[in-house]
Amino acid sequence: MLNIKDKKRIVVKLGTSTLAHHKTGKLNIRRMRHLVRVLSDLHNAGKEIIVVSSGAIGLGVGKLGLREKPGDTPSKQAAAAVGQCELMYTYDDMFGKYSITVAQILLTKAIIENERRKNVENTFEKLISMGVIPIVNENDTVAIDELELEIGENDSLSAVVAKLCHADMLIILSDIDGLYSSDPRKDPDAKLIPVVTEIDEHIEDIAGGAGSSLGTGGMATKINAAKIANEAGIDMIIMNGKDPEKLYGLFENDETGTLFIASGK
Ligand code: GLU
Repeated sequence: MLNIKDKKRIVVKLGTSTLAHHKTGKLNIRRMRHLVRVLSDLHNAGKEIIVVSSGAIGLGVGKLGLREKPGDTPSKQAAAAVGQCELMYTYDDMFGKYSITVAQILLTKAIIENERRKNVENTFEKLISMGVIPIVNENDTVAIDELELEIGENDSLSAVVAKLCHADMLIILSDIDGLYSSDPRKDPDAKLIPVVTEIDEHIEDIAGGAGSSLGTGGMATKINAAKIANEAGIDMIIMNGKDPEKLYGLFENDETGTLFIASGK
C-alpha cells in the first residue's frame, strides 16, 4: 500500500459544496473553521499545503442575495468577483488566527499554457519557501469560454496546480466519500472503491455526470483530475470534506476515500 505519511507537498482542493451551505450559498463557517484548523496543523507539522478553493461564485450568489447560481456569463463573473473577495477575506482571517499567511493566486488556462507558466511556478516555489499557504482559484472574472481561457472547474485546475507546484499528492475534498461502483444517491448497493490503479473505460463509465447546484464539477471532472495528476506521477485521493479530522487519519495511512495511484507505481 502507498505510504501517504511521508508525502510532503500537498494540494488540497476544496469544493463549493464543502465550503458553502447548499440551501443559501452562504459560507459554512463551522466547516471552514474546522478545515482551516486542520490544514494549519498539518502545515505546522511540516506539510507544504497549497489550497485550490472554489466558492467564489457560490459565495457571491449568497452575498448578492440571488436565488440561484446565474446562467449567463456576466452575472456569473459578477458573482465570482464579489465572492472571491469574501473567500480570501475569510481565509486570511481564519488562517491568521494560527499566524499563517496566505496568498491569492488566480489562474487562467492561457496563463498556464503559455510561457508565463514558469513565472507562476516560481511564485509558488517562493511562497512555499516563505511558509505561506497559496490559495488558488480560476480567475473567473476574465476566464470565459468564448476566449478559450476557461478551465471551467476546479477539479481539473487542482490537478494542473499539483503539476505546476510539483506536488507529492492531490487531495480532492468533496461532498461524497469517494468513487462508488454506481451512483450511491440512486443505488443502495453502491460500493465505495478504495483504490484505482488504472483509469479505464469502466471507471469513466461509473463516474457519470452531474455535480451540486452551486459548484460545477461532478465525479467526471474528478476522474479527469485523477488522469492529469496520475499521468504526472502524482497520487490523488477523493474524500469527504465534511469531516476534516479524517485528513489526520490519511497521513497516518488510514484507509479513506478513493485513492488513485499514479501510473508506474
Ligand atoms: N471557480 C469557481 C468558483 O470559485 C468554481 C468552479 C468549480 O466549482 O469547480 O466559484
